[in-house]
Amino acid sequence: MQTHNLGYPRIGSRRELKKAAEQYWAGKIPAAQLMATGKTIREQNWKLQQEAGIDLIPVGDFSYYDQVLDTSLMVGAIPDRYHALTVDKQLPDIDLLFAMARGYQKDGYDVTAMEMTKWFDTNYHYIVPEFTAGQTFRLFSQKLINEYREAREAGINAKPVLLGPVSYLLLGKEKEAGFHRLDLLKKLLPVYLDVLEKLDEAGAYYVQFDEPCLSLDLTTAEQQAIVKTYAEIKATFPNLHIILASYFECYGENLSTALALPVGTLHLDLVRCPSQLDDILTTSFVNTRTKLSLGVVDGRNIWKNDFRQSLQFIQKAAGKIGKDRIWIAPSCSLLHSPCDLDLETTMLKPWLAFAKQKVQEVATLRTLAAGGANPLLQENIDAINSRRASPLIHKPEVKSRVDLITEKDARRQHAFPERRDRQRETLRLPLFPTTTIGSFPQTTEIRGIRARLKKGELTAREYDVLIEKETEEAIRWQESIGIDVLVHGEFERNDMVEYFGEQLDGFAFTENGWVQSYGSRCVKPPIIFGDVSRPVPMTVRWSAYAQSLTDKWVKGMLTGPVTILQWSFVRNDQPRSTTCTQIALAIRDEVTDLEKAGIRVIQIDEPAIREGLPLRKANWKEYLDWAVRAFRISASGVADATQIHTHMCYSEFNDIIQAIADMDADVITIECSRSQMELLDAFADFRYPNEIGPGVYDIHSPRVPSKTEMRALMDKARSVVPADQLWVNPDCGLKTRAWPETRAALVAMVETARELRTS
Ligand code: GLN
Ligand code: ZN
Repeated sequence: MQTHNLGYPRIGSRRELKKAAEQYWAGKIPAAQLMATGKTIREQNWKLQQEAGIDLIPVGDFSYYDQVLDTSLMVGAIPDRYHALTVDKQLPDIDLLFAMARGYQKDGYDVTAMEMTKWFDTNYHYIVPEFTAGQTFRLFSQKLINEYREAREAGINAKPVLLGPVSYLLLGKEKEAGFHRLDLLKKLLPVYLDVLEKLDEAGAYYVQFDEPCLSLDLTTAEQQAIVKTYAEIKATFPNLHIILASYFECYGENLSTALALPVGTLHLDLVRCPSQLDDILTTSFVNTRTKLSLGVVDGRNIWKNDFRQSLQFIQKAAGKIGKDRIWIAPSCSLLHSPCDLDLETTMLKPWLAFAKQKVQEVATLRTLAAGGANPLLQENIDAINSRRASPLIHKPEVKSRVDLITEKDARRQHAFPERRDRQRETLRLPLFPTTTIGSFPQTTEIRGIRARLKKGELTAREYDVLIEKETEEAIRWQESIGIDVLVHGEFERNDMVEYFGEQLDGFAFTENGWVQSYGSRCVKPPIIFGDVSRPVPMTVRWSAYAQSLTDKWVKGMLTGPVTILQWSFVRNDQPRSTTCTQIALAIRDEVTDLEKAGIRVIQIDEPAIREGLPLRKANWKEYLDWAVRAFRISASGVADATQIHTHMCYSEFNDIIQAIADMDADVITIECSRSQMELLDAFADFRYPNEIGPGVYDIHSPRVPSKTEMRALMDKARSVVPADQLWVNPDCGLKTRAWPETRAALVAMVETARELRTS
């Protein structure tokens, strides 16, 4: 049996790469120093995997920004707008890479960045390749080949990893009409063959192709493209050992295509799709010579592997096809895991494994599968059992509360039309009411106040006084410019999930559990390890304080159950839907406590509801059913007169508009301005019955929108949605903005609403 790994985190266990990249961008260190940091991280990662006992070590998984962008550079898919930078200015490759990722505004050049989007159902964002009808490709960046050589010289048994050509094309976007990106395959393949030629010369025998598009619903033409690609690669390099990897889902309808490919090793994600092994072992695949890579160690989560369960998979497969055809691996690249558990102090440590520990698990599983007594197995069994039985995890009262939920708990007292009447009587808002999405600028002072509390430099009382002052200023200012529904500003919050996680039972936090989100941006997701409950109110104090300052309505501000789930590492010992329902009950308690404290407008943010969608459409309904139900449970404990808002950003809503309507929030605010209100069409075509606040300006840029622009967007909105259903608000929260532009933009927004009311 061989062990291999699909990819290792590249940020460095103390985020060394992030820090070096940001310093380089700020002009504080030279390129050579950034490159040196990169080289050190690569070498450390390789050595660490080698020492752990990994036979084949991935190379090419390292990137200064993103591996999809690296692929674009490898095949020379550089959009024309960078021509001036590459040709006239002769920008070095590293600067071209960053220009494509982040835009280039310097020395008289002003070139926009490429688009970024989520990598499958992860929180990692990749840079979207751009293609034109006349697209050509050529071997441009030799990074992969150089890194392969570098690894060989360092004495590493290296395995180059490439994003496969079909997935690469499918992940990209046509920038003009008249062709399909898959048509480009015949032009792209020769470049891949060039790369393979060079790798071959450098001594590569194993090459891993990632084709994660095989976890999506593919058309016949797309499946054919896969068949053609690997037939051609095999025909050109008959001696090459191709490893084909897909992950995050079953091969599903693509299984027979995958099984028939002329590859040396086929990888299975047995964490996401445990049933796949049986499906394969009952086909004629058993009579072939293709090896199976068993992805038994979860690359997407932080739990210690259950060795007994993994060994069952390994032994079952070995029994059918023989040990020689078995490889052991993580389920997917470890890019999605934090780096090193050794840096943590959490009490959960005996139950966890980060990337470094996961590669050790892979190696240990091989040893255990070889047979013979080994104390590591008993140690693992003890750890798994201690977690299973721990009173830290299991709270009978939480479980029985979930069991006792009835349909009534997931329904407001009356349907929206009646609620709307009650709310109009209570709230007495004008037509086109104005509001914001929740947060106000997180200035250095505000961050400083929270940091000083954390370091013990402020007492709780001193901290409260400072936050109260900020909140009061925000309230006074909103009153002065005439916003209708105010917010308290979220000055006490670090992050919209962490803030709640810190106050809920069943959550834990790490000190260094960073995972790359995009470029130099990393996130540190909380760990949901146990049954979730809310010991005491979480936000009532701040909302009630803000409401006490004013006669206007102040909107309570909460993060919804699906978003809290989606942005955390979630326990794997019960269905995600159960965990989500527990969170929903905790939020419901908060909602009803806010109402008791006199808050009449309460927003439950669900920006992540769409990104939780399964990769295959056939699984959407099941997910949407429990996700929508969780939101409704959180929102339905209040009287008809209390107005529930929700907010979603970055969403394409067309295909899930029914589910959004089923959430039955009284008001939804959405991001709309960048798409010129096109998003609103989904709501208009659907005749969305409840109230909507289509964002009238983009908060992602410091640019101050003009009244004319906002007016034009709202005129468009009211031409498709009845005026008495519309709210006026920005696209999203304002925490990343500074005050000057925030002030100017909101003043103009309020004036726009006033003008709308009279004309
Ligand atoms: N209430 C949050 C804020 O204003 C919402 C952020 C979000 O949707 N991502 O910051
Ligand atoms: Zn938002």
